[in-house]
Amino acid sequence: MKGRYYMPTCQSCKRKWTWKETIKTSLALKDSSMNCPHCSKLQYLTAKSKKRSTMSMFFIIAPLAIFFNDSPFIGLVALIVTCLLFMGIWPFLIELSNKKESLRSNSKS
Ligand SMILES: [Zn+2]
Repeated sequence: MKGRYYMPTCQSCKRKWTWKETIKTSLALKDSSMNCPHCSKLQYLTAKSKKRSTMSMFFIIAPLAIFFNDSPFIGLVALIVTCLLFMGIWPFLIELSNKKESLRSNSKS
């Protein structure tokens, strides 16, 4: 595992996606696949990055329940801040693959 995070790189044309491109393509995310903004080839989220983003989402969203319990207004503000925060880190969480990966990846096939 690498010590630092990189922007997602298209496995088809090997070009890095910028933060803006990643957000834009991710908004059109369908069944964990998205089209590369450079070569428009279909790219899939790797099982690892899918797991990583789900975990992060959980850790970011779970504390929101406490805010909502306190006051719906603060909860709403916290939700917006959380969404922005998650969008900010999202490109660093994902990894791209040419093939669709299953979350239950078996080493023996
Ligand atoms: Zn590409």
